[in-house]
Amino acid sequence: MGNISENFRKVQDTIPSGVSLVAISKTKSTEDIMEVYDCGQRVFGESKAQELVPKYEELPRDIEWHMVGHLQSNKVKYIAPFVSMIHSVDSMKLLKAINKEGRKNERVIDCLLQMHIAEEDTKFGLDYEELTGILGSEEFAKMNNIRIRGLMCMATYTEDTEQVSREFRQLIKYFDQARSNFFPGDDTFTIKSMGMSDDYEIAIREGSNMVRVGSRIFGSR
Ligand SMILES: *Cc1c(COP(=O)(O)O)cnc(C)c1O
Repeated sequence: MGNISENFRKVQDTIPSGVSLVAISKTKSTEDIMEVYDCGQRVFGESKAQELVPKYEELPRDIEWHMVGHLQSNKVKYIAPFVSMIHSVDSMKLLKAINKEGRKNERVIDCLLQMHIAEEDTKFGLDYEELTGILGSEEFAKMNNIRIRGLMCMATYTEDTEQVSREFRQLIKYFDQARSNFFPGDDTFTIKSMGMSDDYEIAIREGSNMVRVGSRIFGSR
């Protein structure tokens, strides 16, 4: 396995301007994270609240921490004081919990709604009807401590790149529809978080502007 900073620079070289990189550091040590930090990266992502909190406490305060994994409503309180963005909002219940904790912490928490686009049905996420149900609700209109910045998805884990492309295109369709129906002329709803180590190049080709790359940088878990 090559060294982490070398991997990081290689990944960075493949990412065009206009696409932001979230370095996914789950299961990795603070030393490994600091190696990437020292290359200039400031945005890191974790998938578990109980792992994110101690890393936030130990590591430099200018890191922007993104929560990308499935999040239970009762765990929101641990990350609400500092989290920069929550990618994995997949229910009204969770959104309400985030809004409540945002209010307690006197902040507005940036969120992405996670969409289910994979043809396999093991992954979390909303379908388009559930998405419009949330965005069109009176309850959502009254939430002042969350801001929906865009959509997130995970594609099926498959060698079939045509299928992966098709799934990413579906997210772009949902994004465009949601933007014109619920956020017209609003430049806070701009983020399409799609693409991981094995498929981020495809995701970028299909219009991603935020990729979440872990193992290609830090090595396998
Ligand atoms: C782990 C994880 C990633 C990164 O996965 P890699 O394949 O290691 O790049 C991206 N997004 C989510 C939601 C994850 O849980």
